[in-house]
Amino acid sequence: MRVLSVLGSTGSIGTQTLEVVRQNPSDFKVVSLTCSSNINLLYEQILEFKPLCVSVFDEAKALELEKRLKQEHPDLNVDVYHGVEGDVTCAVMPESDTVLGAIVGVAGLKPTYEAILRGKDIALANKETLVAGGDIVMPLVKQMGVELLPVDSEHCAIWQCLWGEKKENLDRILITASGGPFRGYSREQLQGVTVEKALQHPTWKMGGKITIDSSTMMNKGLEVIEASHLFDIDVDHIDVVVHPQSVIHSMIRLRDGSVLGQMGKPSMILPIMVALYYPERGPRLLEEFDPFDPKCCNLTFSKCDTNAFGLLDLAYDAGRKKGLLPAVMNAANEAAVGAFLDGKISFLDIESTVESVYSEFENRNVFEFSIDDILEVSRESYIKAKEILGL
Ligand code: NAD
Ligand code: MG
Repeated sequence: MRVLSVLGSTGSIGTQTLEVVRQNPSDFKVVSLTCSSNINLLYEQILEFKPLCVSVFDEAKALELEKRLKQEHPDLNVDVYHGVEGDVTCAVMPESDTVLGAIVGVAGLKPTYEAILRGKDIALANKETLVAGGDIVMPLVKQMGVELLPVDSEHCAIWQCLWGEKKENLDRILITASGGPFRGYSREQLQGVTVEKALQHPTWKMGGKITIDSSTMMNKGLEVIEASHLFDIDVDHIDVVVHPQSVIHSMIRLRDGSVLGQMGKPSMILPIMVALYYPERGPRLLEEFDPFDPKCCNLTFSKCDTNAFGLLDLAYDAGRKKGLLPAVMNAANEAAVGAFLDGKISFLDIESTVESVYSEFENRNVFEFSIDDILEVSRESYIKAKEILGL
């Protein structure tokens, strides 16, 4: 049985993780939950899963939840925390052995880092943690002897293809991308796209930030850097393959030319289960994969149009140059995507803002840094991006 802390339990990955727990109650126990501010859903989750502690990032909401629990369920023994300290407290619960990291953004870095330090296995969906902090997180994972279990579907696919394979046999990673809602759009066509359109992902149902990242192709850029950390390979040995059907979740090419891939329906339930049941296999919760489904016919593969979607090249650049640059790029992107989601800027402003913050930072790149340096530079870059946007 895995004893879980679920960070970001009210989000897309968090709720799907709890669905896996709900369907397999004898295999999992939940001891802590965290969210940003959705206390209504968290309240229901508390009643259902009976965690020992929870955290709500927003302090006022945390107090509101605490009051409500005391009034309506005085019998429940659940501690309510808030802020970064609350996230960390929930992540390092002595009772848990595994942390499911599904917070969105670099906010997930600190609790993940602290949990690794306490020897917990990490099932990680929160890619921004590795993009910004991979150079510190990966050596720590090794040092502490914990498992880092990839939940991001492409990385879970690559990981499975690599099971039992010698590291030196890995030649290239072929990471697949749906291409998002604007695949095939020219730069001109991208100019006027709306938030509503950008949120209509053709194959995946996900949280707002990652859906926008998928529409700019930044999601794939973040995933290239994430894969370079997880599989200890430089970004120039990773190719992005646009595959709109999202049937093949990624592939690896081995030294002798063999190409292995992992296929399935576009659902996060399976990668969550692969990570949480590792090294065993769990029961099947999804409909069987049907190769005769029309969606599986005519699988196509093409290159990403980086003239239209410039953030992918920028992410490769950050992945090559390393240092604090990936964190800077990530934080500027978080700020710009947030502003786009709030309807304050246009779609192409996302790219230009990230580029400005990134290129201004380049000269101050340093190679020795701590988690606090990453968080500080992330804060600075976030503010800088907002300044550029006049927000
Ligand atoms: P989401 O927006 O649906 O959910 C994010 C969760 O994090 C929410 O519960 C929110 O309350 C919580 N949260 C945000 N800031 C917080 C903070 N400071 N402290 C505590 N909780 C906080 O996002 P999502 O789509 O579930 O994505 C979560 C992460 O998983 C992202 O990093 C994303 O890139 C990654 N991911 C998501 C999918 C997917 O299908 N949704 C697939 C692959 C990877
Ligand atoms: Mg992914």
